[in-house]
Amino acid sequence: MPLKSTVLSTLQDIKVSRHHFFGHCGRPGCSHAKILDIDGLIHRLGPDYEFVGNDKLQKSLVCDVCGHKGGTITLHGPDRGKAPGRG
Ligand SMILES: [Zn+2]
Repeated sequence: MPLKSTVLSTLQDIKVSRHHFFGHCGRPGCSHAKILDIDGLIHRLGPDYEFVGNDKLQKSLVCDVCGHKGGTITLHGPDRGKAPGRG
């Protein structure tokens, strides 16, 4: 059995590795961020959807606070999924 790649390229990779997407509002001065719903994205786009080199997700972000469309997405490891507060 070959070594399992740790490269994350599809939505399914994110889900099984318990990573999280954070969507950041692209509007200057807002910088609102939220965790994206991976299950919802998989439902819409399919588990094999490749987000690497694909800016569709970023362009389709809509800010909950200001309603701005478009932003950036960052990937956070499984240790960051806990409730914010410390750190
Ligand atoms: Zn915003």
